[in-house]
Amino acid sequence: MPTATVRDDIPLARRTVSPALRRRGALRRGLLGAGVLLAGVAALWIVFPQPLRRLLAPPPVQGLNARPGLDGRLLGHFPYAEVPASELVAIAPGVQLQVDAAEALQAMQRAATADGVDLRVLSAFRSIALQKHLFFDVKSERNQSAQERAMVSAPPGYSEHSTGYAVDLGDGREPGTNLSRSFETTAAYGWLRANANRFHFHLSFPDGNPQGVSYEPWHWRFEGSAAALRTFEAAQRLSR
Ligand SMILES: [Zn+2]
Repeated sequence: MPTATVRDDIPLARRTVSPALRRRGALRRGLLGAGVLLAGVAALWIVFPQPLRRLLAPPPVQGLNARPGLDGRLLGHFPYAEVPASELVAIAPGVQLQVDAAEALQAMQRAATADGVDLRVLSAFRSIALQKHLFFDVKSERNQSAQERAMVSAPPGYSEHSTGYAVDLGDGREPGTNLSRSFETTAAYGWLRANANRFHFHLSFPDGNPQGVSYEPWHWRFEGSAAALRTFEAAQRLSR
């Protein structure tokens, strides 16, 4: 049998590379390329960790001399993104929280009321724009340095309030203790210490916290969802 005839007997499909196979080849080359790139970045990360991390760190706050540290913290505060507006719900006129945190907070307030405690919300979600005002305008009003101000208020982009998960709580019967250390002497604070964890609220800045942020007995954050836990993972890791 002549050679040409034998070749012609091979079905066409076996003699050419099918488009599907060609696509698979391209995909494999693409994956290999991505793998090499990732390995390169990982190697650079190991050899030059500081410059790379600083490069990837969020930009420093405008008007603030301090630079974020290697763990991303600026003057003690971790960076936080602003919660999407679609996840916010009103818990009072002009007061908003992330929807899961809002439900838990309202359940917690009902339980407090049942125990004769008047738990008041003093501050909840704050946009990054509002935090900017609270940080810079109040700082100049009080003639504070950025470092001094950061002890009592997070720089914009670094506040737990922007996540929609954090609340400042007060005792309705002792408004004179609002946002002050003396809040820890109130019935509301005692009740929170005993019960807040059941509603997945935790004190963010206890006395002597490793973040170096001043003690805030009134500031509680919600950690009762996977998303909330992810949000505060770095802060939790530091406090362990
Ligand atoms: Zn607060």
